[in-house]
Amino acid sequence: MIERLCVIGVGLIGGSLARALREAGYVKEITGASRNPEHLQKAVELGVIDRYDTNLPSAVEGADMVFVSVPLGAMGAVFASIKDALGVDAVVTDAGSAKASVVEAVRVATGGTPAWFVPGHPIAGTEQSGIEASFPDLYKGRRVILTPTTETGTAAVQKVRDMWEAAGAIVKEMNVEHHDEVLAATSHLPHMLAFALVESLARMSEQQEIFEYAAGGFRDFTRIASSDPVMWRDICVANRDALLAMLKTFRGDLDDLTAAIQDRDAGKILSIFQDAKAARDAFDG
Ligand code: NAP
Repeated sequence: MIERLCVIGVGLIGGSLARALREAGYVKEITGASRNPEHLQKAVELGVIDRYDTNLPSAVEGADMVFVSVPLGAMGAVFASIKDALGVDAVVTDAGSAKASVVEAVRVATGGTPAWFVPGHPIAGTEQSGIEASFPDLYKGRRVILTPTTETGTAAVQKVRDMWEAAGAIVKEMNVEHHDEVLAATSHLPHMLAFALVESLARMSEQQEIFEYAAGGFRDFTRIASSDPVMWRDICVANRDALLAMLKTFRGDLDDLTAAIQDRDAGKILSIFQDAKAARDAFDG
């Protein structure tokens, strides 16, 4: 049970956790914090948080759990501003989509790797953002990856694990580097492809006609290109090396498919598509 939860960044991810924990009866009081009081007032009106404070140090005072769910580029400034205001028993975790950059931001902000910080990443979301997009079931049956370092306190990890489980999530642990490689492949690369494809089509002179005749395939493949550009810019910057490695591998595979089409190599094309279909069908179970 959490006595006072402070959510810094009450958008899709932070708002959904607050809603889930409230619905589960797992939290007594929820404080919200971010830059814009209008966003926070909306969260109060929706019943997601009890009160808010745009001053981060006073927002975290008395909180036994702090959840930082701001864009990756804002993490360092948030940790620098809250570090001296945290209570002695406070545990802090985050939602950032890449982990090495957050661990580094905390190291720079605090001068070390504090036992009270548990790096985390819920593998759940939508292409929407903001408090109005949040909903209590977002984490039900979804995975949350925690990437504790050797310095992270065992009790802090357990407290964060218990919180996510109360929100309905399945909690896994892995190391920071492995997390960033896996997510570069499964989430960051597909987003790059969707953004690049839609931007490329939008620049074509006959774009009006292309979008007019776009059907289900286009819709399925490109939905995630509606995701928040700031969040995804920050992910590219934060997970640069792992993402570049994935893009290089993918570019090679795309070159192979291009060559097979160029050579009218029907057998090679069919083999690529059959392998892809088998993998995709297996993914759905
Ligand atoms: P969001 O809906 O846009 O919410 C972000 C929140 O952060 C807003 O409430 C914003 O409020 C606040 N904020 C932005 N800059 C800030 C700053 N400098 N200081 C304090 N507050 C700030 O974004 P989200 O989708 O919830 O994403 C939040 C985090 O979760 C990101 O790190 C993202 O990588 C991660 N994540 C996202 C997804 C997803 O699918 N969306 C999935 C997993 C993890 P104000 O405008 O009022 O400041």
